[in-house]
Amino acid sequence: MTTAPTPQLPEHVTVYEVGPRDGLQNEAGRVPTDVKAEFVERLLAAGLPVVEATSFVHPRWVPQLADAAELLELLVDRIGDRARDLPVLVPNDRGLDRALELGCRHVAIFGSATETFAQRNLNRSLDEQFAMFEPTVRRARDAGMQVRAYLSMCFGDPWEGAVPVEQVVTAGRRLLDLGAGQLSLGDTIGVGTAGQVGDLVAAFAAAGVGPDRLAMHFHDTYGQALANTYAALQAGITTFDASAGGLGGCPYAESATGNLATEDLLWMLRGLGIGTGDPAGVDLDAVVATSAWMARQLGRPSPSAVVRALAGSGS
Ligand code: MG
Repeated sequence: MTTAPTPQLPEHVTVYEVGPRDGLQNEAGRVPTDVKAEFVERLLAAGLPVVEATSFVHPRWVPQLADAAELLELLVDRIGDRARDLPVLVPNDRGLDRALELGCRHVAIFGSATETFAQRNLNRSLDEQFAMFEPTVRRARDAGMQVRAYLSMCFGDPWEGAVPVEQVVTAGRRLLDLGAGQLSLGDTIGVGTAGQVGDLVAAFAAAGVGPDRLAMHFHDTYGQALANTYAALQAGITTFDASAGGLGGCPYAESATGNLATEDLLWMLRGLGIGTGDPAGVDLDAVVATSAWMARQLGRPSPSAVVRALAGSGS
């Protein structure tokens, strides 16, 4: 069932799939490299236009993604040169070196909107992180790469509580000013609510950053991810991060739910008549089947309500 596009909402959005990176890095179980490669392939085959493949983070911090280089090489073998268009996270200059060696053409950096999370996640102050990212972004741009910047804790921080909108805008502007092409605003602990979304998008617009340069990265910890997505659609946002099957339990909250599930997002977009690709859009059934398959690999059911509804109790 499809309906005509709702007035004032975008006609098309880009679903930026983060399951293989953000999902699997937060899963307790270690997934074999060939299973990861099949996961990425299946997500691409389902029509997802952007699939972030992995992170070149030090294995000491994220052992789940210690096989990043092997995965990229395996993907090049399996799907050819287009594997190098899949975004990869590079936490720092050393990560970028590894992405450059493999010929990757799209990288992402991961910054913090708060002092405490910058200290805990990057071992830098809020201010120092920009000096760390500057050469990484500059070298990536000089190499002709696309650069995305994540900004975490934009809607609340587990140690600091509410995060002032001006602080988020200032940090986001600095990442864009370094040369990032897109800024993904993360509700890392899922505490944000719909009213905050419009305020934040408006504050960025007032600072000269339109919604076309922003993406939203919602977590469903408090069950607000789709309400927040709807508010973001109304504010003109057209890129949404999501994780197939809702993979990736939130590491900073005692909850089974983390990332917004790709299937939950696709279900709502379909109901709104909002396109997700050319010409048919992302194949929801194929994503559900992929998530059900991955849930079996991980040995636990998907937290996505849509996956559970469409895949049945056997998922
Ligand atoms: Mg996430």
